Amino acid sequence: MNRLQDRVALVTGSSSGIGSAVAKCMAAEGAKVIVNYASSAKGAEEVVAEIKENGGEAIAIQADVSQEDQVKRMFGAIFDTYGTIDVLVNNAGLQKDAAFVDMTLDDWNKVISVNLTGQFLCAKEAVKEFMRRGVVPERSSSAGSVICMSSVHEVIPWAGHCNYAASKGGVMLLMKSMAQELAPHKIRVNSIAPGAIQTPINRSAWETPEAKAELLKLIPYNRVGIPEDIGKAAVWLASDESEYIQGTTIFVDGGMTLYPGFATGG
Ligand code: NAD
Repeated sequence: MNRLQDRVALVTGSSSGIGSAVAKCMAAEGAKVIVNYASSAKGAEEVVAEIKENGGEAIAIQADVSQEDQVKRMFGAIFDTYGTIDVLVNNAGLQKDAAFVDMTLDDWNKVISVNLTGQFLCAKEAVKEFMRRGVVPERSSSAGSVICMSSVHEVIPWAGHCNYAASKGGVMLLMKSMAQELAPHKIRVNSIAPGAIQTPINRSAWETPEAKAELLKLIPYNRVGIPEDIGKAAVWLASDESEYIQGTTIFVDGGMTLYPGFATGG
């Protein structure tokens, strides 16, 4: 219950879905959690309240992760409150789906700016602090950990979602390049690639029985994921239990990346 004791953890986009579960799971392990949100102050305050009711420590901070001035302001507020940061979970993300020929430049730019540039901007501020402070052995054997929320679509092409798949493919090599560059500083960088997790981002894929039956055809383990599946993986990946894991994507997908169409044919 204290694998992240006294560590300061920022979870971007954690007023809902996967981010809120990651925030709650990390707080349950002793982390002081920053619940970042773009516009849903109410959702963020609910997450903070639930963490506090369970004896944890959390604050909410608004910032659009795609805007450098807002990201810098958020990190300034974190340092004012907690003095430093130990864990960054780059979770904020969105979809703007369209057939390729109908996709507008605005749809493209919006998804790339939040899903990819937002991860770059937040990681840069966190890593600067990890480098300044270095390892604090009482808290962790690494100088800091960045967890990038990727997707099975960092490897699975996705028709009708070219902007989203491109953003997650970009996250994969951003993560690996950072991991290679920052390892000598004892800074850990890894990704989690969720499969289909039941959250607001993909409501249309699970809210009717017909849609859910279609979705389950893609999941060998035969259940849709829940946000806590990702929260548990994120705690482990942030903790010293996974210290020697660097530059890796952990797929948490019930087997979605196992080419399920080949289970009965091919
Ligand atoms: P969600 O919509 O509940 O969560 C996304 C969060 O990001 C929201 O709270 C939203 O407000 C926030 N956000 C959006 N733009 C932002 C911005 N500019 N600044 C700060 N926050 C912003 O959906 P989710 O499923 O919980 O998604 C979380 C992450 O998991 C995303 O990166 C998504 O791509 C990834 N993911 C989800 C699934 C899934 O099946 N749900 C699968 C693979 C990857």
